[in-house]
Amino acid sequence: MTSVAHPPRSLALIVDDDPTFRMLARMSLEQEDLRVEEASSGQTAIDLASAAMPDIIILDLQMPVMDGFAVCRQLRRLPRGEFVPILIMTGLDDVDSISQAFNVGATDFIVKPCHGLLLSQRVRYMLRASEILSALRNSESRLAQAQRLAQLGGWEWDLVQNRMHVSDAACRILGLSPIAFDYSQAAYLAHVHEADRASVSNAMRQAIADGTGFDLDYRLVETDGTERIVHALGELILDDSGQAHCMVGTVQDATEMRAKEAKIYFLANYDSVTHLPNRSLFLHRVAQAIPPGGDDPIISALVVVGLDRYHRISDMYGSQQGDRIIKDVVKRLQHALAIDGVGTQLPHTDTPAFLARLSDDQFAILLTHLSAPEDSAKVAHAVMTALSTPFQIDSASVTFSAHIGIAVPGVDGTDVDVLLRNALTALQTAKSTGHKSCQYYSTSMNASLAVRISLEQDLRAAIARNQFVLHYQPQVDILSENILGFEALIRWRHPVRGLIAPSEFIPIAEEEDLIIQMSEWVIIHVAQQQRVWHKNGLAPSAVSINLSGLHFRQRHLAGRIKSLVYEHGGDPQNLELELTESVLMTDASNTIGTLRELKDCGFRLAIDDFGTGYSSLAYLHRFPLDTLKIDQAFVKDLKLGTGDSPIMRAIIGMGRALKLHIVAEGVETQDQLAFLRMQGCTAYQGYLFSKPVPAEQLQHLLRDRRSDDASKIVARSRNRLAG
Ligand code: C2E
Ligand code: CA
Ligand code: CA
Repeated sequence: MTSVAHPPRSLALIVDDDPTFRMLARMSLEQEDLRVEEASSGQTAIDLASAAMPDIIILDLQMPVMDGFAVCRQLRRLPRGEFVPILIMTGLDDVDSISQAFNVGATDFIVKPCHGLLLSQRVRYMLRASEILSALRNSESRLAQAQRLAQLGGWEWDLVQNRMHVSDAACRILGLSPIAFDYSQAAYLAHVHEADRASVSNAMRQAIADGTGFDLDYRLVETDGTERIVHALGELILDDSGQAHCMVGTVQDATEMRAKEAKIYFLANYDSVTHLPNRSLFLHRVAQAIPPGGDDPIISALVVVGLDRYHRISDMYGSQQGDRIIKDVVKRLQHALAIDGVGTQLPHTDTPAFLARLSDDQFAILLTHLSAPEDSAKVAHAVMTALSTPFQIDSASVTFSAHIGIAVPGVDGTDVDVLLRNALTALQTAKSTGHKSCQYYSTSMNASLAVRISLEQDLRAAIARNQFVLHYQPQVDILSENILGFEALIRWRHPVRGLIAPSEFIPIAEEEDLIIQMSEWVIIHVAQQQRVWHKNGLAPSAVSINLSGLHFRQRHLAGRIKSLVYEHGGDPQNLELELTESVLMTDASNTIGTLRELKDCGFRLAIDDFGTGYSSLAYLHRFPLDTLKIDQAFVKDLKLGTGDSPIMRAIIGMGRALKLHIVAEGVETQDQLAFLRMQGCTAYQGYLFSKPVPAEQLQHLLRDRRSDDASKIVARSRNRLAG
């Protein structure tokens, strides 16, 4: 058998000095299933109520010692006495004592003598009302407690009266003083952070206009200046005619919640050591940057950087030192990306590179708005350079070798995961091949692009590794066949690919800002070579050096190369600088000044590849030139054609008129030579006489040569021209 728990029966306290009344009242109440206690005096009643507050008190007004008014007043002051229903029994039906009873806290009254049934019914009603009230109080207090826990407060804005009511809890949250608050919306808005005030006010206005509500976060500033974030909700209440008459809402202190949310977001998306975005945020960013389908006109690249030995170093020196180094790495990467790579050199100043930490020893960079995929190699190089200097751990210095893998969106995939995987594969390949620090994902490039990228990297090391060599090609007097001098032509002895022709690497050197370094290397080595020849007792030989446009436009060019030449035992008098027609004609008015300076330093000057550009004759005769080199294309035409060339004749004629030494390039046949000789060309250069050869192979040519030195021969041909 299961027993059903009954709610405890209510307790009624009858307070009356009249024992008969007490007995009659007890009988009626007990019939209503109430428990009953009796008190014959006011003091007994107070004692009993202090020990256990009854559920209802029936109180007589007229008692000796302490009358009902005094008892009522005291009962109300007892703990839990505030809400107990008190029914006054009075024989006096005058209005004064009734109203006085209410004033001291009576709940209701009944006139004595009364029918027992009437009393019990009245008590029942009062108990029911009291239960309802107490339930309401409970639920209110629970609501208040819940609101307190949720740091939630309520407000109501009467749109008709334009008055705002703000609950105490809301006042607490908003930092408003409930007493000072003047019910105006302006006072409500006054606590909002200045920067957010307009948006809160707009949201409220908009909600009224749309007949909807609002939901927003805003900041408020507390009197001590601390900022808090509140979350506010508002809803419009419409009357029966559909008119908005009121807006109700809540405010909630969301400061801690938002801080927690921000922390959760940070932990999910950022690396806690470096505060860089992590892999997941990086992938998200890449996905945003690359539109689906991959047909994006914006050229991007995904670059991953791996640090070798990081784990070993971190194990050796401890994780704290490991973290410190990683922070240093990040600083260098950020610097390289902002200054050396992305910000200035690459043409996308408004789109910074997006740097992320993929794992302990791997970083990823998203580059966008590149002008060509190969530009990513520049960034790779900047990164490599940044990481190449040692890191300091206490007194020890450690170096990492870094490797880089690059994948190009579109070519190497459009899916972010695939792209990252491919970049990591490229990184792995770079590591395993050993000699390469940077590797593009293989299918991302056609073969020539791949070659170019790898050449670019190798080229940077070529000077330091002494991989350049000079070959010299004789320039020969067309009549006497005497050697007048040589043109120095650079070659690159690549450790894997063998001898590489300048046409393959000079354009790269020019783009990568290596050309000046390379050009100066040539000047130094030619000067040194001339000194060797001189020491070996050979007559001084004029050597022509090719100057690229970039070098020619360098500031203080003349002074700089003059001192280089002297420093290395050469003499400008024995050097001719070759500048192509197009270089000379670009910015021709400035060209004249530079040419004069070079001339003043003693250098001879030649216009190279003549006939391929569009020379302005007006300038040509103002340039202080010594030599005109006819481009090989015209010499080739001689072989193909009838053996005559009006253009060639015109060029030679013009050169003679300008009193220039005229050298024809690329002479391969006797027929060509014969034609050139007939036209009055001064000298020639070409396979017919000799290919460009290393300096050692020239020794015998120079020894066999008749003692006439180059300058005498030049003077002779000049005389011949003049005559
Ligand atoms: P260039 O100044 O016009 O040099 C002449 C080129 O013609 C050389 O090519 C030479 O080997 C080639 N050549 C000479 N005789 C003949 C011939 O009979 N038949 C054929 N088919 N070719 C002949 P190379 O050495 O490959 O150089 C190519 C270009 O690279 C040069 O053209 C020059 O513009 C540039 N270059 C070479 N060395 C340097 C250098 O040290 N600095 C700079 N800035 N440019 C250089
Ligand atoms: Ca040349
Ligand atoms: Ca040439």
